Amino acid sequence: MTARILYIEDNEQNLYLVTFLLKTKGHEVLQAHEGPEGIEIAGREKPDLILLDIQLPSMDGYTVARLLRTNPDLVKTPIVALTSYAMPGDREKAMAAGCTGYIEKPINPDIFLNQITAWLQNDMLGENEK
Ligand code: MN
Repeated sequence: MTARILYIEDNEQNLYLVTFLLKTKGHEVLQAHEGPEGIEIAGREKPDLILLDIQLPSMDGYTVARLLRTNPDLVKTPIVALTSYAMPGDREKAMAAGCTGYIEKPINPDIFLNQITAWLQNDMLGENEK
């Protein structure tokens, strides 16, 4: 199953790698380089899943997640935080801010794609139960 995925990330190398990986699976990728831009795109495009870097300029990922959750259209959209392996506290804070889950950086391509598939399938199951 292919999806429209918004990726909010300031690091060009990560943007390039993740976009490349997702496109190999047929996903459409929308990119934002910082939080306010990501929130604007999310509200307009209503992606199937949002990938959210935590360490962003001007507005951190926790704040972005909280603001995304204030939009009724995005209340159920999976938000997957990209957290640093070296910063375990990031994960709890990301979940408290409304993220659905997290993926640790640095990104391992195989594990990453499996995790994305799992998040998308979980979301589909949730839809079927409604
Ligand atoms: Mn970053």
